[in-house]
Amino acid sequence: MTTAQSEALFHRAQQSIPGGVNSPVRAFRAVGGTPRFIARGEGSHIFDVDGNEYIDYVCSWGPLLLGHRPKPVIDAIASVLDLGTSFGAPTSREVELAELIIDAVPSIEMVRLVNSGTEACMSALRLARGVTGRELTVKFEGCYHGHVDSLLVKAGSGIATLSLPDTAGVPRCFSETTLALPFNDLDRVETAFHEHGDRIAAVIVEPVAGNMGCIPPQPGFLQGLRRISNHYGALLIFDEVMTGFRLSRGGAQALYGVAPDITTLGKIIGGGLPIAAYGGRADLMKRLAPAGPVYQAGTLSGNPVAVTAGIAMLRYLEQHPEVYETLDKISAEIVAGLPADVRVNRAGSMFTIFFQPGPLADYAAARRSDTARFGRFFHELLNRGVYFPPSQFEAAFVSTEHRPDDVVFTRKAIREALAAASA
Ligand SMILES: *Cc1c(COP(=O)(O)O)cnc(C)c1O
Repeated sequence: MTTAQSEALFHRAQQSIPGGVNSPVRAFRAVGGTPRFIARGEGSHIFDVDGNEYIDYVCSWGPLLLGHRPKPVIDAIASVLDLGTSFGAPTSREVELAELIIDAVPSIEMVRLVNSGTEACMSALRLARGVTGRELTVKFEGCYHGHVDSLLVKAGSGIATLSLPDTAGVPRCFSETTLALPFNDLDRVETAFHEHGDRIAAVIVEPVAGNMGCIPPQPGFLQGLRRISNHYGALLIFDEVMTGFRLSRGGAQALYGVAPDITTLGKIIGGGLPIAAYGGRADLMKRLAPAGPVYQAGTLSGNPVAVTAGIAMLRYLEQHPEVYETLDKISAEIVAGLPADVRVNRAGSMFTIFFQPGPLADYAAARRSDTARFGRFFHELLNRGVYFPPSQFEAAFVSTEHRPDDVVFTRKAIREALAAASA
């Protein structure tokens, strides 16, 4: 496999773009080597600038539930280009997309469109603080809610000690508004609320975690969060940027039967273009400007091209409810019967092969994985034409375009790569 063109581009990119990439994980730092520059995608496959072909399990980090260039979405985008690309004024299509989201996601009565998952989570948090008049947030270690200042903390050194930032550039006073607790640990949530309950505005959680690798909630965890937040008058925010429209049309909340107060969405709802959203109970959402006192705005929010792609995607899912069973079957097959020295965590069409035998229910356990071995596994797969996320702490995604021959090819490649990576 030659990678000369990718290497040349990566070298050039590093002169003009920090680290050569526009989002850090793309740089392959966690696994070493040169990131592939992608020329095009079709269905479940991507092609790099050197002409190498890969079966894609990143799928743009989640949005491409229907694979690359799905016809309904591509046709819809083409049809809107004749009308204009942005007006900064309301359009009928925004109303249509809002109605589609409300129809699909049980707890959402009103919704506001934004441009990224980061923006959705940041705004949801502001709304929660605005409504409750409180300042603290509970989050869970290993959960990612975009690069929101106060949420870039993972390592709570205990509930009595407020958190330190994970990044340069975040004032201590921002990160100190966040209590980071272990995922799946309700006792710690109880204790945090017992001590700080009257100051906690919201609990924010990935209902199925995907950003420390795939870690599903243990039975009762989400229900417990609902009960405790209700008891203390805090809002429950489900960050379904990854899981929304992926685990079911109603997201994780429909699967687990727990209704949050606010939900954030992104990725799939843009059909591969930049859209995200936050929505929830109407009485809360009506507190947003211009209806209420909590300000939030966006020049390109509800952009007609992106909204049109989103509508095409959500209409397709509305009309093809069988998609979720198909996706579940494909991903189950891919990871069935792997050796016992790795641990597979899977929820529907998202999964992670962890390089430790498990059990694996929180970030501390995920961190015990053998990341050096994962790096070798990743490159062995890549060389065989299978493109997995370049980090142990990411979920792989399956699309409806992953065909039986892709599955057979991938199963064989995974076995060979596992063997080669242990050597
Ligand atoms: C991807 C993701 C985000 C951030 O979305 P961006 O569009 O990258 O800003 C937030 N939360 C979760 C759960 C995500 O997976």
